[in-house]
Amino acid sequence: AAKGGGRGRFRFYSNDLKETAEDRREIEEDLRDAIAAGQLTMHYQPQVGARDNVVRGFEALMRWEHLHHGPISPATFIPIAEQSSLIDELGSWALQQACLDAAEWPGDLPVSVNVSARQFLNKDLPEVVKLALRKSGLPPARLELEITESVFVGDIGSAQAMFAQLRKLGVKLALDDFGTGYSSLSYLRKAPFDKIKIDQSFVRGCAQDGDTGAAIIKAIANLASAMKMTTTAEGVEAMDELESVGGLDVDFVQGFIFSRAVPQADVLEKLRSGELRYEPVGPARHRAGRR
Ligand code: C2E
Ligand code: MG
Ligand code: MG
Ligand code: MG
Repeated sequence: AAKGGGRGRFRFYSNDLKETAEDRREIEEDLRDAIAAGQLTMHYQPQVGARDNVVRGFEALMRWEHLHHGPISPATFIPIAEQSSLIDELGSWALQQACLDAAEWPGDLPVSVNVSARQFLNKDLPEVVKLALRKSGLPPARLELEITESVFVGDIGSAQAMFAQLRKLGVKLALDDFGTGYSSLSYLRKAPFDKIKIDQSFVRGCAQDGDTGAAIIKAIANLASAMKMTTTAEGVEAMDELESVGGLDVDFVQGFIFSRAVPQADVLEKLRSGELRYEPVGPARHRAGRR
């Protein structure tokens, strides 16, 4: 199904060009075999303490190296997977792989895994999460699920019930991309999130005089702390953005200024070499249930 060549690669990787229906069909077909073909990997981007620059965890981000088109962005293939049950297969695999990898990290560092709306509303999700935890031996408190407010659009009752079930498993829940789309503060009352991730659109330009991004970040951070939630500012790229965000009461910072998402081997190496600083928590834990 591959057309091959650099033209496709450019098109798939570009954010502003819409793929044709034919492209989408090709992506969907190829994605079906991508797991088995070993073309999918999980990469990890550090989440860093805003006051001390100490690594406090990593977000797991899926990467797809297509045989003919090269790297395809998850911003392209996740929405296509989400239109079919493919997302469940991809999502289960992502959860398992992320938990297995996080179980190898020092310092009891947590991993955050993105869960799409369709996946979140699938009744099997708690079982999928339990299996990933059991197979990896990762304690539930070291797994955080990132969901967007889109899970609350439609059947709010089902979303709340799933939220409560996952809560009972002991995993953490974060509200991703906050402030975009149909953001409503009412979601914060409907579900007790552990963390709010402030969308990178507010970080962009927040260092410029008169930019409203800074005021919005500060307001969200203060609201979150009043509700006993922590906050992460996403997409910090430049030093002036980091300095600006540092004065806005957010707890964590994530962005290219520290690191892009990197493969598991690089995570281990960066932590070992001290390139990424973390604080060891107690002695190494015995990992029960590893296979
Ligand atoms: P997201 O969950 O909001 O992830 C953050 C995105 O911002 C990532 O893009 C990350 O690479 C990018 N980013 C981080 N720091 C910076 C920065 O300083 N500047 C800029 N310009 N970008 C930054 P990525 O990896 O391309 O993922 C895009 C989206 O695809 C994710 O957005 C998430 O919604 C989805 N996604 C990725 N992996 C998975 C997955 O395993 N499962 C699901 N369901 N969705 C995933
Ligand atoms: Mg995310
Ligand atoms: Mg995000
Ligand atoms: Mg996003």
